[in-house]
Amino acid sequence: MGHQFGDRPMFIGGEFTGASSKDWITSVNPATEEEIGRVPAGTADDVNRAVTAAEKAQAGWNAKSIWERAGLLKKVAAGFRARAQEILQMEATDTGNTIAKLRADVEIAAGYLEYFAGLASEMKGETMPATPKGVHFTLREPFGVVARIVPFNHPFMFAGAHLAAPLQAGNTVVIKTPETSALSGHLLAQVCAEILPPGVVNIVSGYGLPVGDTLVRHPKIRRIGFTGSVATGLAIQRAAAEVSVKHVTLELGGKNPLIVFPDADVEKAVDAAVAGMNFSWAGQSCGSTSRLLVHESLYDRAVELTRTKVAALKLGDPLDPTSEMGPVNSISHYKRVMSFIGKGKAEGGKLLTGGGRPKGDMFKKGFWIEPTVFADMTPDMTVAREEIFGPVMSIGKFKTVDEAVNIANATEYGLTTGIFTNDITLALSTAKRIETGVVAINGSAMHHIGLPFGGARNSGLGGEECLDELLSYTQVKSVHVLM
Ligand code: NAD
Repeated sequence: MGHQFGDRPMFIGGEFTGASSKDWITSVNPATEEEIGRVPAGTADDVNRAVTAAEKAQAGWNAKSIWERAGLLKKVAAGFRARAQEILQMEATDTGNTIAKLRADVEIAAGYLEYFAGLASEMKGETMPATPKGVHFTLREPFGVVARIVPFNHPFMFAGAHLAAPLQAGNTVVIKTPETSALSGHLLAQVCAEILPPGVVNIVSGYGLPVGDTLVRHPKIRRIGFTGSVATGLAIQRAAAEVSVKHVTLELGGKNPLIVFPDADVEKAVDAAVAGMNFSWAGQSCGSTSRLLVHESLYDRAVELTRTKVAALKLGDPLDPTSEMGPVNSISHYKRVMSFIGKGKAEGGKLLTGGGRPKGDMFKKGFWIEPTVFADMTPDMTVAREEIFGPVMSIGKFKTVDEAVNIANATEYGLTTGIFTNDITLALSTAKRIETGVVAINGSAMHHIGLPFGGARNSGLGGEECLDELLSYTQVKSVHVLM
């Protein structure tokens, strides 16, 4: 084809394969709009083949001891690390995420595999003396074949990390990669092909309809782990419920507030908010601190600091380690983010910096958007309510603690919150009143493997990155032995 990365087939039953339709999806470098490779546009038939292959492999996989499975997961982790450079070059070119920070993605995926391998002996049941002579206990058993559906912002990291818990629990897996930026799924498959028995991991590429939807509705899929938008999460719950009872966990979007109380160090708070925006991937992060809420006494200073800091971000080639921000992921996402910026302007947001395409020859092609900050945000504005999933931050002010809490809770989301204050009582009482799954005091949201990451309200269902994630890939059976 002459594309930089060529054709990258799917992985079904240990074989690399095209789609039954023979159709392909072309990946575009978002920084240049160059075509860089292709993945098959999977079909319902391909999904059925993948689930059948996974089902065939599951009994053998589950027959291995927990230690054998753990050992193989650790080998997959080592395989990721051995190919880190190749994975990162492809991922940065395909996603537009800047390489300096993206380096962590391979390490995170490998770290998850090792963490869940380390939890092998924690898949414990319970016992209870329910009758005087009997023995009563629970077993934790795998579901069989599980589906994991992955978004475009960190495709390799999510696909790699999301193998770990289901596999350790004895399930086999079908992964659905995103429509855009799916090339690295093929490298993941190559590592799995060298280490795991055929069918234990299967990777199907293609569109949400038909691939994601067929997977969700497949009668052999009883457990679905989804990471993506609220709208798709709801569609998955509906589709699953239409066909049978399925276990669905959801990691969805966020509109995350960072609250700065009057006693806070405003410079540190603004640093945390700008870092938490994840401009390194153009703000395309579920945890982005897209709403900075500042007490009126610090507001003007916070506005000025944020403007200066965001305006100074260096946009550039995602492969250049000095670049601090790249383009957004795709043309459709570019249009979506630009339309939010238009709404911000139209609804009275005060544009502090950014708001358009950056100037300069290298930004003439590609999906480039300036890092953008709106001040004087009020809770009714679209940019204050809806997840933009782009390089757009808004700043608003409050007078009282109640007002701050009400604004923070005024969206449908509930993923993360940051609170800046040195008053421990204020910090903890506010943390308890905010309806999000993660709260950071004097910081912005972070992931610490071992502690749950997950959303409240429409941000999700089921914490991940912890023991609960492993257990959520098992089902419990009570066994009563009467004597
Ligand atoms: P998306 O919901 O559009 O797509 C996610 C995946 O779902 C893709 O693979 C897509 O093909 C698939 N899909 C689409 N329609 C489907 C259907 N009907 N049935 C089954 N699968 C279907 O999300 P996106 O645009 O790729 O990613 C951005 C979103 O993901 C944002 O909302 C972001 O906040 C969220 N996200 C959340 C987390 C988290 O941990 N909470 C992490 C990363 C991203």
